Formats: sequence, structure tokens, C-alpha cells
Amino acid sequence: MLKLALFAGDGIGTEVAGEAVKVLKFLLDSHSIGYEIEEGLVGGASYDEYGKPITEETLKIAKDADAVIFGAVGGPKWESLPIELRPEKALLSLRYDLDLYANLRPAKIYDELIDASPLKKDVVRGTDMMIVRELTGGIYFGQPRGVFDLEDGQKKGINTLVYTTKEIERIAKIAFEIARKRRKKVLSVDKANVLECTELWRNVVAGVAGEYKDVELTNMYVDNCSMQLIRQPKNFDVIVTTNMFGDILSDESSMVAGSIGMLPSASLNGKKGMYEPIHGSAPDIAGQNKANPLAAILSAAMMLRYSFDMDTLAEKIEKAVEKVIKNGYRTADIYSNAPGTKLVGTEDMGRAVIDELKK
Ligand code: NAD
Repeated sequence: MLKLALFAGDGIGTEVAGEAVKVLKFLLDSHSIGYEIEEGLVGGASYDEYGKPITEETLKIAKDADAVIFGAVGGPKWESLPIELRPEKALLSLRYDLDLYANLRPAKIYDELIDASPLKKDVVRGTDMMIVRELTGGIYFGQPRGVFDLEDGQKKGINTLVYTTKEIERIAKIAFEIARKRRKKVLSVDKANVLECTELWRNVVAGVAGEYKDVELTNMYVDNCSMQLIRQPKNFDVIVTTNMFGDILSDESSMVAGSIGMLPSASLNGKKGMYEPIHGSAPDIAGQNKANPLAAILSAAMMLRYSFDMDTLAEKIEKAVEKVIKNGYRTADIYSNAPGTKLVGTEDMGRAVIDELKK
């Protein structure tokens, strides 16, 4: 029995998560796999109902579940609230409370959508990488931090880059496990030539590699990596890196792949995870049946793979998405008027994926 939590959130979050759940239910039902889905309000929807972006009860639903399906939160209606009441706080509370230390962002280019990438076709064709970013440590959390007054009237800003062996080991293991399900290559990205903390990172990752002799480990400095990502994106398989480097490199990699409406993500603590599209609640198109649900649907596939080891079912969803794209279905964000394509809405796109799964 899969125990799932569904937090659809605000704006297009409800639309795309709705389609993802329809796809998931169809697939699980047709394979006679039992599941239960408990829903909760998050973000602006929770604020409107309970006066806060996430309640203790909703956090408990997440803690009790094996995996959380998340839509998106936010919108202009709640933008002027104090920071601790804003919808986005729900996301941070979930990451913190569930200790979701590994953020996975795949970036894959579909041949039919190659024009959506700002890079040359020959450079991006075949790109299929996974960035594994450490999410709960590093310079974003290290102490001391802050801006301090100096005696001579100047100010001093401090942030601290800190990682322990344990923190590095656990994220490295995730990267190696993922590589085993892919092309068996891990690239660890650091700045070991300048930062001692990332020299430790490099050494600890090398130690973990000893347990994964079937996976090839290489290292790269972050400045070189940011260049190589644009130069030869198809050379990358799994990249594992620190919180800040991963923040920057994962945004860079998502542009290689084109539309934001296509990119899923997972945030994991071991097998437990939260799965969401990388995009936000898109207030400009919310409620209009225009949003691309494929990122959310692909996030559900990630859930099957990483929380439940159901690789075959995950692949079924991924193949169905590929086929739907091949067959010319396009939501507005990926529509280019090319011959053989048809503009469809959110629900039709979700339905097309289910129709493919039926075949
Ligand atoms: P956004 O990702 O919501 O939208 C950016 C642009 O991309 C918009 O033009 C939107 O229409 C388009 N877009 C996004 N997803 C799409 C999809 N699936 N299909 C088609 N088009 C899509 O980012 P934003 O506009 O900067 O933020 C809007 C709200 O979302 C803000 O309140 C922000 O804080 C919040 N946000 C939430 C999350 C999250 O919940 N994880 C992430 C980012 C932003």
C-alpha cells in the first residue's frame, strides 16, 4: 500500500497536480497496486482557510506519508503578507521538517522540443542529466552568519560554508544510487583548489565511491562545470554538488532543456520524498486550463522510481510523455506552430498521457 500525501497548493499547482494524480491513479489501478492519498491545504489556500501557510496537521500528513506530491504555491493575493505567513513558507517548512536533504533535478531534452532550448541543436541533442544538490546544509545554513558593525563604522557580512563528513556521505550515496539506475557516472563538483570545506567534500565523495565500484567517479571545479554544461551538456550524467553550487548549476541546466513546464524535481531523505514541478503557481495562466502538466506528471514518475523502486512503472510514464510529445501534443508554453503539432489544454494533455498508457 503506497501512502501518499497530495498538497496541490495554489494557482496552476492544483491543475497540474490534479493531472499528475489522474495519471498515477490510472497506472496504479491498472497494475492492481494499492494506495491511499491524503490531501492537505498548503500555501495561500491554507492561509485563506487557517491563517497560516501550513498547519501542524498538514505537516503530520506529510510526515506519515511515504511520499508527498506537491503542486505549487503563491500568488499576488498573498504577496504583501509578512514573510512567515507567505505561501512559500509551506515549502520551506516541509523541506525542513522532513529533512529533505537531497534535491534531484533532471534536465533532459526531447528531440521534438529542441527548438525551445536557447543553445544550438547539435549541442543540446541527447542531453539527459541529473543534478543532485545538497539542500539542507552548506553556506545557506552555516553559522556564524549575518551583517555586523565594525568599530570604524564599516559593516562586515559573513556567511559560513560548512559541511560534515556525515552530510557529504549521505548526499554522495544518493548520487551513486541514482547513477546505478542511469549511465553509472557521477561527477562531483567542488572548488577544492580554493575552499578547504569542498576539499573535504571531494575526499569524502571519493571514500563513498569505494562502495560503488560499478560507478565511475570524476571531479570538476564549479567554474569549469558551469562552462562545460553549456559547451557539452550531453556529456553529463549525474552531478552531485553543494547547496549553493547546485542552486546555480541546476538553473543553468534547466535552460539547456527549454521550457519550465517540462521539468520535474524530487527532494529526498532516503526513500522518503517530496515531488514537484520546478515551476511556480503561474498566476498569469491560472484557472485557464493552459498550464503544461508534464513537469508534474514526470514528478510522479520520479516518485515511483525513487520512493518506491517502481522503475518499470516510472518508465511507462516517461515513455508515454515522450510519445505524446512525439505525437504533436503541445500546451501553449511548448507550442511552436510546427507542422504536425496541436495546441491542447492542461486536461487534454493529461488525458493524452493516460491514452498512451492504455496502449
Ligand atoms: P512561475 O514558475 O509560476 O511562472 C513563470 C512563467 O512560466 C509564467 O509566465 C508562467 O505562466 C510560466 N509557467 C510556469 N509553469 C508553467 C506551466 N506548467 N505551463 C505553462 N507555463 C508555465 O514563476 P513566477 O511567475 O516567478 O512565480 C509565481 C508565483 O509562484 C510566485 O508567488 C512565486 O513565489 C511562486 N513560486 C512557487 C514555487 C513553488 O511552489 N515551488 C516555485 C517558484 C515560484
